[in-house]
Amino acid sequence: MNVFVLNCGSSSVKFQIINTDLDMFETDSDRRVAKGLIERVGQDDAIINLEAEGQEPVKTVEPIHDHREAILRIKQWMEDPKTRINGIHSWDDIHAIGHRVVHGGEKFAKSVKIDKEVLAQIEECADLAPLHNPANLKGIYACYEIFGDKIPQVAVFDTAFHLTMPEEAYLYAIPMELYEKYRIRRYGFHGTSHRYVAYRYRKLVGKPREEVNVITLHLGNGCSAAAIKKGQSINTTMGLTPLEGLVMGTRSGDIDAAIVEYMFNKGIGSVADIFNILNKKSGMLGVSGFSNDMRDIEKAAAEGNHRAQLALRIFALRVKKYIGAYMAEMNGAEAIIFTAGIGENSVLIRKMVCEGLENLGIELDEELNKQAVRGKCMKISKDSSKVAVYVIPTNEELLLARDTVRVVKDVPRQW
Ligand code: ADP
Repeated sequence: MNVFVLNCGSSSVKFQIINTDLDMFETDSDRRVAKGLIERVGQDDAIINLEAEGQEPVKTVEPIHDHREAILRIKQWMEDPKTRINGIHSWDDIHAIGHRVVHGGEKFAKSVKIDKEVLAQIEECADLAPLHNPANLKGIYACYEIFGDKIPQVAVFDTAFHLTMPEEAYLYAIPMELYEKYRIRRYGFHGTSHRYVAYRYRKLVGKPREEVNVITLHLGNGCSAAAIKKGQSINTTMGLTPLEGLVMGTRSGDIDAAIVEYMFNKGIGSVADIFNILNKKSGMLGVSGFSNDMRDIEKAAAEGNHRAQLALRIFALRVKKYIGAYMAEMNGAEAIIFTAGIGENSVLIRKMVCEGLENLGIELDEELNKQAVRGKCMKISKDSSKVAVYVIPTNEELLLARDTVRVVKDVPRQW
């Protein structure tokens, strides 16, 4: 099957076309035949990047007024005889569409085929993820408008994997009515990534899902950790929204909630202004004062910039704290898995996170750590380490495509 994997943000449309099918999962013979990104959707100078396997990318700046136009632009490119995507000449060669949907609330524990009822439920979850769900919905509606019911559409939720968390992990210690009435609880995000790397790990070591006990660290622009026991997520660091937990590029992660009132009373701004600071101006950017990008911070730290060094230490300490917490919660883990931009690339962060955890059974091999580069799956702990440490590249799009195939063919999910 050719699956069109779509990830719509408020002003961006990201896609891949993946050729995959049930019999290809075992051999990993799925293949990405095209990918692209349209940024600044809604503006006259949208940036278009389209790339078919083995061909020079198309890079242009054009007016793209909404998500529908963005998808139509991709369609036009796909059907252009000059483009030549392997096995694809027109939209008739696309068999299904898989959408990334950020928030599935408590309703979706797995990926589902989209119909009217599912759409209404995704709409209902929109106030839990006001920045993300409406954008995801725009992509779904645009596909309906363009393709009608001809191509099945599937929703894959960021929150779904974490719905196995027990009550004591997902409930906040606030009045129960707030949960009962407003569904205020921890949901967790990056579920597709945590699930994917845990799946890769189990394939690598040859274990059944129920025997996998690992801590996964998704460290990218957004960062989260998950405790995966017997193959199921039993805790994760993000909460009602993706603000909670680890320190991120521009998000604070955990803070004392009373800080919000204190800032408000100090006249720093409205509640919206304060949350803007916590979401967009905090984290690595806030502490370093100059960048949210780990590469810039590492470089400045190496040159002696104190605030950059401090940002690195705060970042690493928060990750360590959750490794300790999850080790306790799981009664020990067999492996720690680093993934995403920072997790896959930063030798320094992996070293700082694992340093001084020997008494927890974590011993990093410094040489192997240096050899781990993006795109490569490898073990970076010493043989003597009781807890193995791995770098496993994430691939959320592949999981989206595979889930789409499973849902369309009505085959139960297994990871
Ligand atoms: P997203 O979370 O948006 O999917 P990524 O997983 O690609 O993003 O992570 C992006 C982040 O990864 C960048 O902001 C950068 O901080 C970090 N990163 C990428 N390459 C490196 C590198 N070589 N060293 C350190 N950090 C890196």
